[in-house]
Amino acid sequence: MRRDETLASVRLERLQKTFRGTRVLAGIDLTIEDGEFVTFVGPSGSGKSTLMNIMAGLEEPTHGRVWIDGTDVTNETPKNRGVAMVFQSYALYPHMTVRKNLAFPLEIAKMNAREIEARVVETANRLGIGALLERKPKELSGGQRQRVALGRALVRRPRLCLFDEPLSNLDAALRTQMRGELKKLHEDLKATFIYVTHDQAEAMTLSDRVVVLNAGVIEQVASPRDLYCNPKNLFVARFVGSPQINIATPETFGLCAPAEALSLAGQSVLAAVRPENVRALHHCPRPNAANAANAIEGRVYIVEPMGGETWVTIDMIGDVGTTRITARAEADFAARSGSRVWLDIDESRVLWFNAKTHERV
Ligand code: ADP
Ligand code: MG
Repeated sequence: MRRDETLASVRLERLQKTFRGTRVLAGIDLTIEDGEFVTFVGPSGSGKSTLMNIMAGLEEPTHGRVWIDGTDVTNETPKNRGVAMVFQSYALYPHMTVRKNLAFPLEIAKMNAREIEARVVETANRLGIGALLERKPKELSGGQRQRVALGRALVRRPRLCLFDEPLSNLDAALRTQMRGELKKLHEDLKATFIYVTHDQAEAMTLSDRVVVLNAGVIEQVASPRDLYCNPKNLFVARFVGSPQINIATPETFGLCAPAEALSLAGQSVLAAVRPENVRALHHCPRPNAANAANAIEGRVYIVEPMGGETWVTIDMIGDVGTTRITARAEADFAARSGSRVWLDIDESRVLWFNAKTHERV
């Protein structure tokens, strides 16, 4: 079997990691299919890099096992796992040109010189570093070096790639561009990509499935769309989407909680609604309607024109204090801070959560 032409599945079985008495991973169970693009996303310190290092073989789990293609590799060295890894902090060979840095892994693999040259040029062009092949790492910017590091991992056309925040040193425009290139590379290579990021936008745009990690625990595994529309709990709801989902008591939004939600949650619920399901209006939308309860009034805190649309941050003044929420408005929406606005909430898109457990009801 030519291993480099097969894909790779990964199974994580009850993985735990403890550093000097502190539990960093608390029993991770997950199967990643051949050819999938799976992203682990979570706040800083949630255990993403630790998990990645355990998959790569750079770190040993305290308990549990790692399987690649049905083989238990828990005690295998990194070299024997057939895995390519790209780190946030990368080390290039400083005395070698970019060309040589990219060619080196292929030379080790004893590929013939013509094929090496073709692969190096193709990979470099894809990553936008084709004009830099004769330079040494010290003659490159941080972003250029990071792309060489990506290239060095991908030039081998690995069947399993692990990426730990590989775009974090790039500026915003380059980051978005490289994000797209990575997605395309995944489609072309048909390899299994496992990607770690704290950036929910990267997780959403790249992945077949997203794994949300919080303090060493998997909160939810789902497709980006499902994660966005059906978050299991408030942590996931808050973590995904920008601007953040609005969370408040039903009264704040002028909503009545559905009876079944109330009974399931022991009478205490929170409503959550994404900014695109809240419209900011200058006038009360249904002044004469008998049921205009959800057309409620607030005061503009700040207006942020984004070009194609406008985000409006609004203070809702209620009995228990002020709640600040974000609404989306038309591109030409203009209002001064402090002016009155009305909200029109799409009730069909409101999500209900148990106020005590923070689980979806
Ligand atoms: P993330 O990549 O999600 O930011 P990490 O996996 O790097 O998180 O770290 C998770 C937790 O484990 C952090 O609290 C970190 O301080 C701790 N940690 C990571 N590596 C070590 C180590 N070698 N020794 C002790 N604690 C560590
Ligand atoms: Mg990390």
